[in-house]
Amino acid sequence: MKVKFFPYTLELKDTFTISTFSRNSTPAVIVEIEHEGITGYGEASLPPYLGESIETVTDFLSSIDFEKFDDLFKSESILHEIDQHTPGNTAAKASIDIALHDWLGKKTGYPLFRILGLDSDIKPLSSFTIGIGSKESVRKKVQESSEYPILKIKLGSDRDKETVECIRELTDRTLRVDVNQGWQNKEHALEMIEWLALKNVELIEQPLGADRIDDLVWIRERSPLPIIGDEGVKRLTDIGKAWGVYDGINVKLMKSTGILEAYKMIITARALGMKVMIGCMTETSCGISAASQLSPLADWADLDGALLIRNDLFKGTEVNSGTISIPDRPGIGIIPSQVLPSDAAT
Ligand code: MG
Repeated sequence: MKVKFFPYTLELKDTFTISTFSRNSTPAVIVEIEHEGITGYGEASLPPYLGESIETVTDFLSSIDFEKFDDLFKSESILHEIDQHTPGNTAAKASIDIALHDWLGKKTGYPLFRILGLDSDIKPLSSFTIGIGSKESVRKKVQESSEYPILKIKLGSDRDKETVECIRELTDRTLRVDVNQGWQNKEHALEMIEWLALKNVELIEQPLGADRIDDLVWIRERSPLPIIGDEGVKRLTDIGKAWGVYDGINVKLMKSTGILEAYKMIITARALGMKVMIGCMTETSCGISAASQLSPLADWADLDGALLIRNDLFKGTEVNSGTISIPDRPGIGIIPSQVLPSDAAT
């Protein structure tokens, strides 16, 4: 197979702030696999805190001899070999995994969710994310997102209660809370969770640092709300360690190395009695459409990444009023919405 890729900067509609950082754009790399006259698209989205960059993705992809892969139906062994090539680089690996699955769907003529045997009529609603901000900006965001029935709010600042009270003055919509490891003290975390449980909050994501296993277990044993692991659960090998620590996991393709391992993570989590959220980074509709193929397997979805950017490159899965609509097109179902600068790099 031939692989081409080019860097692309995702411009955010608004500054996005969580407990650990603030930013206006996200670097990404768009990948194209070409084989037997069919092109598959993939994406690596690279929020800086995850440690990958356009340079590391470019170096990783440039160091692999893709030409030797000539039977793309052997995707399990191809992706295994790529994974073994160098540790880390999970978003770079995901970009190839996504493009390969897109190619496989197009080659066979079916949407990927159908190849996986999934019923696209059965899937959760997606939440819409509101970052940390002033009372005024949170109020504006809540009003602008009135068509979304579920909000995911970022907490982890010293204004948490104020933020939630401000939202509750405006709406009684379901809230999910993502702390992004932002609370420092387990007693404070539990007190906050107990308070949030009275405010119609559905779940708490990553209340403490991912390395605070004993404290997370302490919280989970006492928490009235389910505790979901995100930063603490990246790949399949993390799931065994997450059992007993979290009630559920947030699966994201950029952490998992792509669709194949995300699927295995979901099946494994289910076998252990854990809940599953399918999530995302800020991504174009390429990454979101890929993740959405697995959404029929999830209890919760958080696939608003393409709604947060102003320069999407693709048309694909849409999230309207929280409803995830997966197109009935082969592969991951995307079509470029402009001419891609694919010839700018090799
Ligand atoms: Mg999270």
